[in-house]
Amino acid sequence: ILLAYEPAKRLANTRVGLERSVIGVRFVYEILDKPIRMDPNPDGPELKVTEGDIRFDKVNFGYRKKTQVLHDFDFHAEGGKLTALVGPSGSGKSTIMSLLERFYDVWGGTVTIDGQDISKVRIASLRDQIALVSQHTSIFQDTIRENIRFGRPSATDEEVETAARNAMAYDFIMATPDGFETELEEGSGLLSGGQLQRLAIARAMVRDAPIILLDEATSSLDSESENQVQVAFERLMAGRTTIVIAHRLSTVLGASKICVVVDGKITESGKHAELLAAGKQYARLYDLQFAQHPEFEDGDDDDNNK
Ligand code: ADP
Ligand code: MG
Repeated sequence: ILLAYEPAKRLANTRVGLERSVIGVRFVYEILDKPIRMDPNPDGPELKVTEGDIRFDKVNFGYRKKTQVLHDFDFHAEGGKLTALVGPSGSGKSTIMSLLERFYDVWGGTVTIDGQDISKVRIASLRDQIALVSQHTSIFQDTIRENIRFGRPSATDEEVETAARNAMAYDFIMATPDGFETELEEGSGLLSGGQLQRLAIARAMVRDAPIILLDEATSSLDSESENQVQVAFERLMAGRTTIVIAHRLSTVLGASKICVVVDGKITESGKHAELLAAGKQYARLYDLQFAQHPEFEDGDDDDNNK
């Protein structure tokens, strides 16, 4: 990742022209986790997000011909609301997010955002509207400031700092040796797990996209850090369509709708209390994944956001 980032970083620093540097950084944004794709339809219409309503209609998909992952998959995430995906590992939750970003095309069926088939729009206009916060925050060998600005290269210093405040990251950033100018390095251990998560949230905040895709980290944080991440998440989600692969109890409790994904299908959906009362798959998952989730555990976070 660092190797891939270097040329774009140099490009951005030399300011060979804003246009080129922006394209350079965007390019890296897209290859971070997934293969780059050529847009087969670069002159297609722009995606226009109004409500942020997301629908999967009878979607069939697999990574390989012989192993289908999603089967006639129907799904609705209401605009501006929080929809949680839960389900066993390998059931297809991350795949749903990858299809929304159009890292892959569906075999059949449609994915629409506000009624527009995402396979018909310009891919860049789709990805511009989405902020993806994955389980592992990618850190670049650059300052904290640039690591946040990476969410949107045109963001001003002030916008970066406001995002850091809103993401409950400002205080710990100011406590690092050079504040926003502190150089980060992948795996340096300078920032704790909870701090990295808040950095990722700040990055998504500067991106200011109407759709948030969030894959919550499975590792538990100490309760104070957990609370701060929770506050930051809530601010990030406010007024945006959020789809989250949920691992935290507070997330499922706060979701407008929880969808239980098993073997590439939604087997149950509803609010936490309804699903718990139904006593089916969700109730079992809840016992395994959420109810015994340690709420209080010693962590290595030293946090300054009181
Ligand atoms: P979940 O997020 O619910 O754990 P995923 O969507 O990651 O599940 O995976 C669904 C299925 O697709 C699994 O069987 C997984 O092994 C497979 N899969 C996921 N990503 C890839 C990939 N890039 N290539 C091939 N198979 C994959
Ligand atoms: Mg996953």
